[in-house]
Amino acid sequence: MSGTETEEQRMIRQAVRDIASDYDWDYWKSHIENKEFPEEYWSALAEDGWLGVTIPEEYGGAGMGMLEMSIIIEELSRSGGQGGIIFVLTPVFGGISIERHGTEEQKEEYLPAIASGDLRFCMGLTEAGAGINTLNIDTHAERVSGPGGDSERAGGHEGDEFVIDGQKTWISGVENADEMLLVARTSEFDRSNPTHGVSLFLVPEPAEQDAITLTPLDVELPWFETQYQVDIDGLRVHEDRILGTEDGGLYLLWDTLNTERIAGAASAVGGGLRAIDLAVEYAGDREVFGQPIGAHQAIQHPLADAYARLMCAREMTYTASRKWDEGEDAGMESNVAKLVSSEAATRAADRAIQTHGGNGFTSDYEVFDIWQNMRLTQTAPVPNEMVRNYIAEHTLGLPRSY
Ligand SMILES: Cc1cc2nc3c(=O)[nH]c(=O)nc-3n(C[C@H](O)[C@H](O)[C@H](O)COP(=O)(O)OP(=O)(O)OC[C@H]3O[C@@H](n4cnc5c(N)ncnc54)[C@H](O)[C@@H]3O)c2cc1C
Repeated sequence: MSGTETEEQRMIRQAVRDIASDYDWDYWKSHIENKEFPEEYWSALAEDGWLGVTIPEEYGGAGMGMLEMSIIIEELSRSGGQGGIIFVLTPVFGGISIERHGTEEQKEEYLPAIASGDLRFCMGLTEAGAGINTLNIDTHAERVSGPGGDSERAGGHEGDEFVIDGQKTWISGVENADEMLLVARTSEFDRSNPTHGVSLFLVPEPAEQDAITLTPLDVELPWFETQYQVDIDGLRVHEDRILGTEDGGLYLLWDTLNTERIAGAASAVGGGLRAIDLAVEYAGDREVFGQPIGAHQAIQHPLADAYARLMCAREMTYTASRKWDEGEDAGMESNVAKLVSSEAATRAADRAIQTHGGNGFTSDYEVFDIWQNMRLTQTAPVPNEMVRNYIAEHTLGLPRSY
């Protein structure tokens, strides 16, 4: 627990820990093996109001901030399972984006349903041809006139519908999503105004759309969700489903990405602490030379080291959360939190495997799965190289290197 936590924050921590304790490793293992959404877990979080933690009370949420969201994500990850992942897709990409940038109609339509657990999101950004260079995306949306009117592509700005074509990849959880936040070009790339020309669309029932074809990817990760290649061919979307402004989607996306980084950092801190908890428990039980292996300094010190790094990463995550809650630019803190937490968590999981000896590589124990998930946080949603690029350029003032 952090020294500066309020009584309310301590209660939140305990409340979500109590919920998560009902869902053990066997529960998660079976959901991962069967690629099944954890419905009971999701409903329990919704019933107690945690999915709407940052959603304003007038839309059915708890009206709290990113700090409380971070505490929840950390505790869910520390309790095992994939609560952190659940939060990034729906409460962050759905909830925070719409809270901050939606129209009044969009807020009324989506936010209460997110808070009640009735609406789940996925996020369609990455493209094979663009990679981490979002400006290079090729999926494009063209205005046409609406149904009943001329279905020819208008090519100008007179229509009230868009037709979207393109291909996304790595898109997680489309099979469980009621909405996809889809990133597409609405104007050609213009070197003199590079951040202009991208829009965000709210696409309903993405897995049910005739114009969308899903091809599952073969990903070696212990996740209950699948990643897909998403082919989009002639998808019609009304202009009232644009989030934010037409052509101005990148600003909105970048605003939301800081919260994604904070949420990812909180999830990594919780996962790393879970690895340490399991290692400490194992080290206390396992006897080899007539005493528990945890009595040896060679086992203790690397765990103590990993714990210390996680504590620093956690404080940075909370600092970023507080800054975001105060409406300040939290870019530097969010990036630093993401960087240090992903590396601290991977290291903690690595030491937990070492503590478990050969058992660390079996599916009877959780630590190898934790390592895979923590290692992922160095690469996705944004690779640490790009985080370092951000810090070097925007905080240290060094020239842009790419
Ligand atoms: C399990 C999983 C789930 C995902 N879920 C989603 C999702 O739901 N929605 C979605 O839109 N995307 C999703 N992604 C995609 C993820 O965000 C991307 O994989 C990630 O952003 C990296 O893009 P890339 O794989 O194309 O790597 P690339 O862009 O090809 O980069 C490859 C490597 O080169 C490095 N590199 C590239 N340019 C530079 C540079 N200028 N300086 C230094 N290094 C550089 C990168 O850091 C990286 O290490 C998911 C990915 C995974 C693995």
